[in-house]
Amino acid sequence: MQLLDLLHYMLFTVSQNKMEYQLSCEDMGMEDCDFVATGKTQKEVIANMQKHHKTVYKMSKDEVNSKEMVKMMKDNIQKI
Ligand SMILES: [Zn+2]
Repeated sequence: MQLLDLLHYMLFTVSQNKMEYQLSCEDMGMEDCDFVATGKTQKEVIANMQKHHKTVYKMSKDEVNSKEMVKMMKDNIQKI
């Protein structure tokens, strides 16, 4: 596990009791990553997951904002 992943994981675990939606990297096909993005709204979850992809997977802003990427995230979001 990378340090950034760990930090994200800890941050989101701490604030998880107030969160409504979640999206895990595993659900998106990243089997080796245990990052879970959470948020009060689906929009927030997507923003968190986009941030994770930019920092951990070194994806560009355009890549994480692409229609395909956003659709894939929306399709996999779960209500907690
Ligand atoms: Zn990940």
